[in-house]
Amino acid sequence: MKGFSTKAVHGRKLKPDVHGALRFPVYDSVAFEYENARDIQLAFEGKKPAHSYTRITNPTVEDFEQRINLIADSLAVVAVSSGMAAISNLILTIAETGANIVTTKFLFGNTYSLFERTFKPWGLQVKYVNFNDMDMLQNAIDEKTRAVFLEIITNPQLQVPDIGKIAEIARKKNVPLVVDGTVTTPYIFKSADFGVSVEVLSSTKYISGGATTVGGLIIDNGNFDWKNNPNLKDAVKYFGNFSLVMTLKREVFRNIGACLSPHNAYLQALGLETLDLRIDKSCANALQVSEYLAGCKKVRSVNYPGLKASRYHEIARKQFKDKFGGILTFELADKKACFAFMDNLRLIKRATNINDNKTLILHPWSTIYCEFSPEEKGQMGVSESMLRLSVGIEDVEDIVEDIDNSLEGV
Ligand SMILES: *Cc1c(COP(=O)(O)O)cnc(C)c1O
Repeated sequence: MKGFSTKAVHGRKLKPDVHGALRFPVYDSVAFEYENARDIQLAFEGKKPAHSYTRITNPTVEDFEQRINLIADSLAVVAVSSGMAAISNLILTIAETGANIVTTKFLFGNTYSLFERTFKPWGLQVKYVNFNDMDMLQNAIDEKTRAVFLEIITNPQLQVPDIGKIAEIARKKNVPLVVDGTVTTPYIFKSADFGVSVEVLSSTKYISGGATTVGGLIIDNGNFDWKNNPNLKDAVKYFGNFSLVMTLKREVFRNIGACLSPHNAYLQALGLETLDLRIDKSCANALQVSEYLAGCKKVRSVNYPGLKASRYHEIARKQFKDKFGGILTFELADKKACFAFMDNLRLIKRATNINDNKTLILHPWSTIYCEFSPEEKGQMGVSESMLRLSVGIEDVEDIVEDIDNSLEGV
């Protein structure tokens, strides 16, 4: 079983089903019974793999994790209740008070808020660098740095960092490179091939298959030695390469309790089976829509890594095998024009979220970034005249027609 689609559709057979069910069932059960007292002891000691309680592990969630593990070619995967839960669980596992992470201000808004407003008061230092400046990155990393954290395509700035180069610096400094791969998924970008140590992502987006459910993933590529990490050095003695995942499962993830529900795992595994088909269509549509917008007089600029004019086109081609994601941004004259355009739309939905089957539009300045000052928004690369479009899998002619009609009235 080598191909992405085959792995996504078939997964790994965990146990024979008593009825021969072809689709892995939803185990909506909180607890699991044991033959005898000895077995339950062994399960609790972690000496005999078995499910005991659904906040910790569950068969349907495990099926989803195993499929992700297969397509990502990773060491191990932990599925969690949301993308934010993936980021927070991971940072809490690898960083301690007084330590720091090196990242950028070009982050998903809630991630920036998590770092600034939730983690900073607990004593985590957050250093912001420009990932196009390798000297700046190198100088920011010190002996208290627990991770370099960045997004594969930043949203909504659509910058594409050179992951290979950054991974090399992180490796030299003996710090894990952690990426948020939400908008690429292992289908477009296989982080293990670029030296990434841990990938986190929101499976709410592309993977869930039409925005059905909220979920998140922590993917451990297994290439980082945690023996110098203060939180993990003891676990390394017992669990070796699996110390990150085992510490999550036995402590942080278990104790925080942000588990993925079995029902959501079922829907997300179903979404995963058609991930490649949907991403192919969404990326092809996004490229066509960006080319169309680039030719519109009322559109001041279009930002999409698939456009040859993008500063990130070459690196995106190298990293993403000619798929550039489903998200683009464009600028109209001002905020008023953006609102008028949005209100004219008939097919495209005014909604937050990205990588739905449906095309969605949002004015980031007035919505997901509304809690930040104009200065902060400026630093985060969000302008008042910018619209973000997440291109779905509809017929592209219908998307373009809706845009065309709506621009007329602006
Ligand atoms: C949506 C998103 C998240 C958060 O995911 P949730 O599932 O909504 O918690 C994190 N990172 C990126 C890049 C996202 O787009």
